[in-house]
Amino acid sequence: MISIQSFRVAVFAVLAGASTFVGTAEAAAPISNLVAPGFYRVMVGDFEVTALSDGTAAFPMDMLLTNITPDQFQKAMAKAHLKNPIETSVNAYLVNTGTKLVLIDTGAAKLFGPTLGRLQASLQASGYTAEQVDEVYITHMHGDHVGGLMIGDKMAFPNAIVRADKHDADFWLSEENMNKAPADGKDGFKGAMFSLNPYVKAGKFKSFEGNTDLLPGVKALASHGHTPGHTAYLIESKGERMEFWGDLMHVAAVQFEDPSVTIQFDSDSKAAAEQRKLAYTDAAKKGYLVGVAHISFPGIGRVRAAGKGYVWLPINYSPVK
Ligand SMILES: [Zn+2]
Ligand SMILES: [Zn+2]
Repeated sequence: MISIQSFRVAVFAVLAGASTFVGTAEAAAPISNLVAPGFYRVMVGDFEVTALSDGTAAFPMDMLLTNITPDQFQKAMAKAHLKNPIETSVNAYLVNTGTKLVLIDTGAAKLFGPTLGRLQASLQASGYTAEQVDEVYITHMHGDHVGGLMIGDKMAFPNAIVRADKHDADFWLSEENMNKAPADGKDGFKGAMFSLNPYVKAGKFKSFEGNTDLLPGVKALASHGHTPGHTAYLIESKGERMEFWGDLMHVAAVQFEDPSVTIQFDSDSKAAAEQRKLAYTDAAKKGYLVGVAHISFPGIGRVRAAGKGYVWLPINYSPVK
């Protein structure tokens, strides 16, 4: 027979347990200020690739996309269950070849507002330091790709050589071009100069022209159009291949289905659209991985042909590498 005393203890324990449970659910979970570590790792042969999140920013894509009607845009948004302005990822990629640590793009730092600029935190969370980075390869000199080269007035990667296509350097680092640009186009030049010039002055910037072998298993692939020197990067190890696309894609929900859709930021819309189509076709045909700056983090996946367009296949999740 159970005593009153032990019955009370048992009831109290149950209630205490219940109230502890409720308390945990109500009080302990951070609601909005906890951000998951922004890195994700895959192996490509012997090369380790780490996607690094710089954060996200909301872009009014209805105003930015070109060669698309408002009706087509609305239909694409509804089909993808997306709301405009679209919360858009900004991703960079760290490649460890075994002998060199290469960062492809650097995020925006403070150039695009407070929701971006997380690259350094993501890098540290992934187990690396900025001092370890040997080379930084820039896909193009828009602020959301080069801003992270600087932390305030200090070089963010003090031991790195920075590389980009000469056509982008000649265009974006030219005072003359900036003076010729309309008032609302000058910030792009200022951001590029602020981010790159300290490396140029320190003798740490080395340009290349067009398709170039950069390291064993690492190549630059010219994809000029979005900017005059826009470049994709290719890595190959043990028969496996991955490409890093930079801005060959801005809005996956729209441009995979219709690669002819372009964006206001394109220097040459026609060339940009051609380069996108070539990249999607090749990736779909060969099935290699791609890492894409503005596809939802980690922005790693493959492309499949579908009708006149393409479908994005995000990489199958795996936490262990
Ligand atoms: Zn861009
Ligand atoms: Zn971009």
